Amino acid sequence: MTLTITEAICAAALDGVGLSRGEVEHLLGLDDFEDAEVLFAAAREQRRRYFGDAVFLYGFVYYSTYCRRSCAFCFYRAGNTLSPRYRKEAGEVVEICLSLAESGVNLLDLTLGEDPLLFDAGDFSSLIDVAGLVRRATSHPIMVSPGVLPRAVLAELRCLGVDFYALYQETHSRELFARLRLGQDFDERVRARQDAHELGLLVEDGILCGVGDRPPDRARSLLAIHDAGEQQVRAMTLVPQRQTPLARARLCSNWNERLVIAVMRLLMPDRLIPASLDVEGIEGLASRLNAGAN
Ligand code: SF4
Repeated sequence: MTLTITEAICAAALDGVGLSRGEVEHLLGLDDFEDAEVLFAAAREQRRRYFGDAVFLYGFVYYSTYCRRSCAFCFYRAGNTLSPRYRKEAGEVVEICLSLAESGVNLLDLTLGEDPLLFDAGDFSSLIDVAGLVRRATSHPIMVSPGVLPRAVLAELRCLGVDFYALYQETHSRELFARLRLGQDFDERVRARQDAHELGLLVEDGILCGVGDRPPDRARSLLAIHDAGEQQVRAMTLVPQRQTPLARARLCSNWNERLVIAVMRLLMPDRLIPASLDVEGIEGLASRLNAGAN
């Protein structure tokens, strides 16, 4: 029996053969339902080998929605007058974390924009204080997702017992990055993740689909993430937001996101790959799990 190209690539990946850039691009460019099912089945098999069918749950606390940046895709970008702005008190953050922990989540994520109160002043003591309070209140793994942090602050967070640092590049194509993360330094973000690795933090990177990215862009991102050795890898799809430069972008289906999840699973079988539910809510969980997320 002759295997299709997709079947041959997936079979080799399941046998432990690394994927070439051309093979990654081929899988990321699939537009045929049957071919995609072959890929998704291989990704599920790979996930089963490393994680069984366990699903890890996250709890997010968005504790400051102020941001000095103007990312083209983000509702919280500086100057968006429609965005609600708040900074939660430390006590409220701890309370939310405790109730999330009780609800059964496996990881607590402290998320904030690049709040000028911290970033412009270069004073990260409030973030460090909150992380310390949460650390003392619960034994759950803690992630911080605050934007680009100085190495010294990452070191302090690690000393406190923070486990994960999430910093999404969104794309590893420099030209696309410049159009998405306006006025930001590509290499500074890469360096911050490298610093976090060196300090013993677990690191998450993520990419955004539906922003003009093509299979070669997505392949470049996945191979860069693979080479960096991130412990958690994520794909999301753009939801066009009002009062942002991408407000009129077309809302894409989750097709490319699911292909990315599946290829991530073949490339990085033992890594955590979240099913992001921002676009479809809980209804979007099954299709992402079926693509290899966990
Ligand atoms: Fe949004 Fe984060 Fe960019 Fe701020 S840095 S605009 S919160 S994506």
